[in-house]
Amino acid sequence: MAQPRPSSRPKRPAPGYPTDDLAALRAKAAEVTARLTARYGAVPFSRKDPLSMLVEIILSHRTKDEQTAVAYDNLKARFTTWAELRDAPTAAVAECITGVNWPEVKAPRLQAIMRRITAERGELNLDFLCDLPVAEGAAWLGRLEGVGPKTVACVLLFSCQKPILPVDTHVHRVSIRLGLIAPKVTAEAAHELLQALLPDDARAIYDFHKDLLRHGQRICVFARPKCALCNVTEICDYYQALKTADPTARTSAPSPAPSADRAS
Ligand code: SF4
Repeated sequence: MAQPRPSSRPKRPAPGYPTDDLAALRAKAAEVTARLTARYGAVPFSRKDPLSMLVEIILSHRTKDEQTAVAYDNLKARFTTWAELRDAPTAAVAECITGVNWPEVKAPRLQAIMRRITAERGELNLDFLCDLPVAEGAAWLGRLEGVGPKTVACVLLFSCQKPILPVDTHVHRVSIRLGLIAPKVTAEAAHELLQALLPDDARAIYDFHKDLLRHGQRICVFARPKCALCNVTEICDYYQALKTADPTARTSAPSPAPSADRAS
């Protein structure tokens, strides 16, 4: 394994990072990805088209994966096409997605987005996003109401295989604990900072996203990370700081500052 090399430069960190040694941070990001992909396995890209992915990601906001999947399947069973959903009574859409958080917000939002896509594109289809340069596709999608940077990146990375990183609450929290970004960086700011540490390659970015997501769900959990079960301890700033403070500590790290964990 290539250990991050110690920096001999002055200890003034680059903005948003815990150090000015970005080469060391890139090496750490690559090493974390390699170890976690070996642990959890590579995930194939989605076969959903961009519009279907957008629907799924909107449903998933602040909602568990299982409930999102049920709601998505309910919509597909109830409406033969997304155009049928767009034109249906909003109450019928909301009824299908009662298991997700805020169905009363998400149902009209889905329909409004679909009406706007239809009006602007002449059809209800987002496949064209895959043919645009990533910045152009991101700008188009990000204008839609309720579609933030994480949703944009999920649609373009998962469906179009574009090199753009989504940062959810798990990716954000684990990246801070590892020391890839500074503790007070927001999830929104983390998109650009973390992406600058990764290759300009959709597969590498997808692996990093999926790895930190699964690690955050299973091991580096919110309240008490299960460090005794972790395979990146020696390159984790949080764990190393804990060991320095208490050399006998082995199994868990204290909860992070609230500001590090609240963003989604
Ligand atoms: S060592 Fe602990 S804090 Fe660091 S990534 Fe692993 S579980 Fe998270």
